[in-house]
Amino acid sequence: MPGTLSFDDLKSQTASGAIDTVLVCGVDMQGRLMGKRFHAVNFIETSYEETHCCNYLLATDLEMSTPKGFASTSWQQGYGDYVMKPDLTTIRPVPWLDGTAMVLCDLLDHHTHQPVPHSPRAILKKQIARLDALGYSAAMATELEFFLFEKSLDEIRKGGFRDLAPISGYNEDYHIFQTTKEEMIMRPVRNHLFAAGIPIENSKGEAEAGQEELNIRYAPALDCADHHTIAKHAIKEIAWQHGHAASFLPKWHPDRVGSSSHVHQSLWKGDTPAFADSADALGMSTLMKHYMAGLITFAPDYTYFLAPYVNSYKRFSKGTFAPTKTVWSVDNRTAGFRLCGAGTKGVRVECRIGGSDLNPYLAQAVMLAAGIKGIEDKMDLAPPTRGDIYQDAKAGDIPQSLIAATATLRNSAFLREVLGDDVVDHYTRAAEWEQEEFDRAVTDWEIARGFERA
Ligand code: ADP
Repeated sequence: MPGTLSFDDLKSQTASGAIDTVLVCGVDMQGRLMGKRFHAVNFIETSYEETHCCNYLLATDLEMSTPKGFASTSWQQGYGDYVMKPDLTTIRPVPWLDGTAMVLCDLLDHHTHQPVPHSPRAILKKQIARLDALGYSAAMATELEFFLFEKSLDEIRKGGFRDLAPISGYNEDYHIFQTTKEEMIMRPVRNHLFAAGIPIENSKGEAEAGQEELNIRYAPALDCADHHTIAKHAIKEIAWQHGHAASFLPKWHPDRVGSSSHVHQSLWKGDTPAFADSADALGMSTLMKHYMAGLITFAPDYTYFLAPYVNSYKRFSKGTFAPTKTVWSVDNRTAGFRLCGAGTKGVRVECRIGGSDLNPYLAQAVMLAAGIKGIEDKMDLAPPTRGDIYQDAKAGDIPQSLIAATATLRNSAFLREVLGDDVVDHYTRAAEWEQEEFDRAVTDWEIARGFERA
């Protein structure tokens, strides 16, 4: 499979003229690529060592505003710099752009050169290191669901985000004919990402008009998060190149199914799947049961990292495959956690709570941390639930709103222990700000409901 480039490959492709531009990118709190476009010659001569960005990049909202209340940076502190340290193992071609390569960066403190604690890549690396200390590695896969629209992003924005028309006229779940009509976008998405070293498995139509899903083969946790981030970026860019819009907003219409990002997880000891035990009725090892007990127990604490915006919580409605219950089940799509591959070497747990707007570094980090806690404390896993779990009054709920998820985040002794107070306080502030901004808005719904009749 074609893949990432070595630094020497980049040098030779720059010398031949095949590459002239290097995208040097960090990942922000929202999981977006942020950075600069370097001339390739400058990058291979000097900037490969490090470059800089304003440290507000880890303290803004989706609109790049500068909320007060972050301890790490502010107007008072002058919004200084972070070091962007290219991770040279992540150099890869960007085949959907001419003459372009990309590298992902770690964000470091400008003075100490230590990782910035609240940087998403650093947060995930910390939990991977904790797992490594226990003798395990994690294999993860995040599914990407999204909608394609008839018009381009620019047309839609200029039209005030009204009269949104998805690219297809009907529910296209598993449909080959309808997805053929979307191949001008999805074929380059699959092939360009594959050529960029991202192990694409497939794309398929999803259970709503205009909804697609991209599946990427499971990979070590950090690679999985890198793959997800680049794939999401590529989908938006390639749809844009073809005059269409791709949206990862979890719920764009009240009557339409939302978009998820399910996360498949398994632990490994070297090349051996540590979740598998052929002696168990479902093929689950004791380690897997402890891991899942931690995942389920702490789901309310970390829900914010699976659903970070006000809109994220609009996705959670009964009968839509978007689960809200902190229970597990065997191959049942209504539970928050689904056992997949029971009785096989590929036995794994799928978390189905996360929306298409999750930041994969943060989501994986908190779930790994919860699983590690379950292993360390040898937590007991309750038996699986059965049937339609939406109707199960005894099953626990995750927080049902951003306000509720912010409270469980803020008050989580577990997250404070595993992420650190500074990181929890940082993301709590981000969550509070999101709600404050929403509370300032006067929505269409309020006006339509009350303008005449209030
Ligand atoms: P689904 O029916 O949910 O689409 P798939 O069998 O297609 O399930 O697998 C979904 C994802 O699970 C894929 O991205 C795949 O690479 C990943 N996966 C398969 N085996 C494992 C494993 N052992 N650990 C983690 N992820 C895995």
